[in-house]
Amino acid sequence: MKTAHDVIVIGLGGMGSATACHLAARGHRVLGLERFGPAHNRGSSHGGSRVTRQSYFEDPAYVPLLLRSYELFEKLERDTGRDIVTLCGGLMLGRPDSRTVAGSRRSAEQWGLPHEMLDAGEVRRRFPTFTPADDEVALYEGRAGFVRPEATVTAHVQLALQAGADLRFEEPVTRWEVLPGGRGVRVHTADDVYTAGHLVVCPGAWAPRLLADLGVRFTVERQVMYWFQPEGGTAAFDPRRHPVYVWEDTGGVQVYGFPAIDGPQDGAKVAFFRKGTVCDPETIDRTVHDDEVAAMAAQLRPRIPALPGRLRKAVTCMYTTTADEHFVLARHPEHPEAVTVACGFSGHGFKFVPVVGEIAADLALHGTTEHPIALFDPLRNELRQSATEPEETTT
Ligand SMILES: Cc1cc2nc3c(=O)[nH]c(=O)nc-3n(C[C@H](O)[C@H](O)[C@H](O)COP(=O)(O)OP(=O)(O)OC[C@H]3O[C@@H](n4cnc5c(N)ncnc54)[C@H](O)[C@@H]3O)c2cc1C
Repeated sequence: MKTAHDVIVIGLGGMGSATACHLAARGHRVLGLERFGPAHNRGSSHGGSRVTRQSYFEDPAYVPLLLRSYELFEKLERDTGRDIVTLCGGLMLGRPDSRTVAGSRRSAEQWGLPHEMLDAGEVRRRFPTFTPADDEVALYEGRAGFVRPEATVTAHVQLALQAGADLRFEEPVTRWEVLPGGRGVRVHTADDVYTAGHLVVCPGAWAPRLLADLGVRFTVERQVMYWFQPEGGTAAFDPRRHPVYVWEDTGGVQVYGFPAIDGPQDGAKVAFFRKGTVCDPETIDRTVHDDEVAAMAAQLRPRIPALPGRLRKAVTCMYTTTADEHFVLARHPEHPEAVTVACGFSGHGFKFVPVVGEIAADLALHGTTEHPIALFDPLRNELRQSATEPEETTT
């Protein structure tokens, strides 16, 4: 069958722009369709910064993907001349048996990643903005830091266009279907109908709409990023001295943050990891309320006393979370010949964006990849069980 494109990519946010870039760089005719503009702020890939780290407390199985992602981020910087990654170091703080500390240590030891274990006194001495309790410790990783999400998306869009991809913004997809016998796909937008040999769906928080037949339940969560002006100014939060951090309290609540990297006006960014409220991307409340700001300030005050000074700004964002908080990255089980899915990044996907683009391109073109992605199988038991449970309405 004659089609105008080899592959259509739906959604050109973090994952879709990287996928389009990898497919076009390999010489394939790519059509990308995005409902908003390039590097927009209504999905999950905005807000100026994302933590990146290798001593991965979520699961050691992510580490080889991170090693490849770091290489690809460096290449992206070289190929575009953009400033995308800063490895300012990172602290994973909490009790020694917390998931954040013990899990990070497990990944570091299993993969031989350079790291240091610091007791509370050493943390206070080396990083004086932090005031851990005596029974808390930290894993310090010199190769942690932050990546710039908007610059990443812009760089992938730029390279995809340079390699000949046809990227159409402000063109929402209304529906897609597989052609009889799985011999390609047809994609409908508000403006047109397109066909191609293969489809990659990278829908972010719109996964429940665009992947209704995947059989995976996604919880879309509203999350808030806060920028506080530190008391005494931003000098102590300079990224040449100040690491990124994830800090787990005794109740398992994780707060994370960055040095002051968005200019002296904006101060330093912090957020809760998870602890969001269920939302819908069409109706999400983008107003940040006083009680939310007060809860964040209360979390920070005993830990980073200089930080909860004046709130400079607060912006909402969305997580698309699976039952086990691992990604979904595979051929679509219902349409394995024609469709690849990259979704459910569960609030920790950005540091993987370039490697997800590489893997999604492998899956689209060959149906397999050399990267280890068994953890991301949509047919895994953890997701099957949750898909049959009743729908939750609150967290
Ligand atoms: C507050 C916050 C903090 C985070 N912190 C970190 C962090 O520190 N480290 C980390 O690694 N990760 C972090 N993440 C997670 C990470 O940012 C996400 O996993 C990642 O951005 C998801 O990318 P995506 O491509 O799946 O989604 P998106 O970038 O949102 O892309 C999906 C795209 O699909 C488009 N789309 C949807 N429906 C349609 C349609 N019908 N037609 C056309 N286009 C459509 C959307 O407009 C959107 O552009 C954070 C996320 C948030 C919200």
